[in-house]
Amino acid sequence: AVKAQGQHGYRFFTASMNERAQARRRIEAALRQALPQHELSLHYQPKVDAQSGRVVGAEALLRWHANGRELYKPDQFIPVAEDSGLILPIGAWVLRQACKQAQLWRLRGHSIPVSVNVSPLQFQHADFYSWLDDVLNETGLDADLLELELTERMVMSGGDATTGLLRRIKQRGVRLSLDDFGTGYCSLSYLKHFPIDALKIDRVFVHDLISDRDTATITSAIIAMARSLNKTVIAEGVETREQGAFLRHAGCTQLQGFLFGAPMPAAEFQQRLIEPA
Ligand code: C2E
Ligand code: MG
Ligand code: MG
Ligand code: MG
Repeated sequence: AVKAQGQHGYRFFTASMNERAQARRRIEAALRQALPQHELSLHYQPKVDAQSGRVVGAEALLRWHANGRELYKPDQFIPVAEDSGLILPIGAWVLRQACKQAQLWRLRGHSIPVSVNVSPLQFQHADFYSWLDDVLNETGLDADLLELELTERMVMSGGDATTGLLRRIKQRGVRLSLDDFGTGYCSLSYLKHFPIDALKIDRVFVHDLISDRDTATITSAIIAMARSLNKTVIAEGVETREQGAFLRHAGCTQLQGFLFGAPMPAAEFQQRLIEPA
């Protein structure tokens, strides 16, 4: 009986592994065509000032549509793009597209910094800095209207080379922020070594703020320490008024989440800039 069970368990395991591998291959094959077939676009989510509620920034988020419907979510296709290396051409496109958009808004009178998510593979690439510099030169965008969102792992793991790259990017005038803060292993005391402008508190903290006292305490402590290090603190995933009020009172600088607007096409975002909600 034990043997049969073991056999069954083994077959079950390989079947699900195969299915997952097949799904990834399907996504990868489709993703290879996505860029040339113009299926990728950027949506923009507002970041608002915690005190005034004014829109003070936008995060560019990748979307994949074909025939009028969404094919896959970023959490499904970004990992495939990273494993296959497709994130390099896709990420380069995202950076250029976001800078073009920010420059367009600026020329229309809205100086709104746009932030772009950077994946580890892009950031580790030897040519990353020159891509960045080229895009800024070609689009004419002021560097301080661009922000790169990095993760704790990327900043912590690279040693001197990483610190050097971060410094060069800062010297070029581009802002740097740490995304999903609190989910990795970055200690706050370590932060003072890195030229990071902003911390984005991960939405898992924001989600449990009101229901869990320990989460509320930790979040308040992160905000207080980040502010004492002169970092901007942004909370992501703010969905309720209660969460917004708590974060504002705790001293959070900016808020981002469905409460203030979901990611939306560029035209809709621009409308938000003209007629604030
Ligand atoms: P992220 O950078 O942490 O982006 C925030 C995610 O939270 C976005 O998911 C956004 O739509 C979602 N979100 C915003 N407000 C709320 C809220 O109030 N509640 C909830 N439940 N969610 C909210 P999205 O767009 O599906 O992207 C997921 C992740 O995929 C991003 O997390 C980022 O890590 C990655 N990603 C997206 N676009 C790009 C890109 O252009 N390049 C790279 N390398 N990664 C990207
Ligand atoms: Mg982000
Ligand atoms: Mg995040
Ligand atoms: Mg994330």
